[in-house]
Amino acid sequence: MADLVVALIKEIAALRKLLAPQRTAGKTVGLVPTMGALHAGHRRLLEIARAETDVVVASIFVNPTQFNRAEDLDHYPRTLDQDLDVCRAAGVDLVFAPRAAEMYPQEPRTWVDVPALSEHLCGPGRPGHFRGVATVVMKLFQIVQPDRAYFGEKDAQQLAIIRRMVKDLDVPVAVVPVATVREPDGLAMSSRNRHLTPEERRRAIVLSQALFAARDLILRGERSTTAIRTSVAPLFDAVQLEYFSIVDPKSLSPVERIEGPVLIAGAIWLGSTRLIDNVMVAL
Ligand code: AMP
Repeated sequence: MADLVVALIKEIAALRKLLAPQRTAGKTVGLVPTMGALHAGHRRLLEIARAETDVVVASIFVNPTQFNRAEDLDHYPRTLDQDLDVCRAAGVDLVFAPRAAEMYPQEPRTWVDVPALSEHLCGPGRPGHFRGVATVVMKLFQIVQPDRAYFGEKDAQQLAIIRRMVKDLDVPVAVVPVATVREPDGLAMSSRNRHLTPEERRRAIVLSQALFAARDLILRGERSTTAIRTSVAPLFDAVQLEYFSIVDPKSLSPVERIEGPVLIAGAIWLGSTRLIDNVMVAL
């Protein structure tokens, strides 16, 4: 879309109007859904979309239906001006940043739910979260009708749920996974990292340390998840652990003995900030 330098669109109808002629002209559309407060992780998704598709749409929408705590929604960082700079630098064509009333003009009565994949890992701690995520992503797919949509492996459960939703509902989009972008010390980049005090930031690295330690144990031959969990447990002494699980990457159900590829995932709390991370081990 050489004729456009990052356009900020707030309405569904306006976005559709801009995209229709592009599609007619045979251009491919790439979508990168985000909640804003963009960092290097998001930037990676945008750059890959830029390289792979003709028209890149970034959505920035802090989706109220995926927050199960009002306080978390209120405190979620909102930095639209800086986000537009990031999008411009990454060569994004269109930024779709609707208001909540545009996306939800009335109380939604239709939901997309993938319960079997939502009940593990983050599910128990965030009731209704993945239903909100799947529903808003489906709405974005309907609005943008992308050829390709980019999601970070950082949110592995979300990625698994979106992939399954796309298969089950025959959505004509290629879901493209993007590897987790990390700080030099291993901490996964996250919009929530900016809430950490310097002291919490120092403690935050235990999550990636535990994930990498667990992966090393598996690669050196350990097959018992109980033994692995016991071995890494002391790392979590100075943080509040929500979960640390070793699961099947497809079903997300817990694994007792490791006999194939596994996903190791965890969530910790530092004060009122919740951080998640994961690593895949492809045996
Ligand atoms: P969010 O704005 O947190 O909803 O994230 C938007 C997209 O960026 C999701 O697909 C995330 O998985 C992805 N993402 C967030 N952090 C990272 C990261 N550190 N590395 C790669 N992708 C990420």
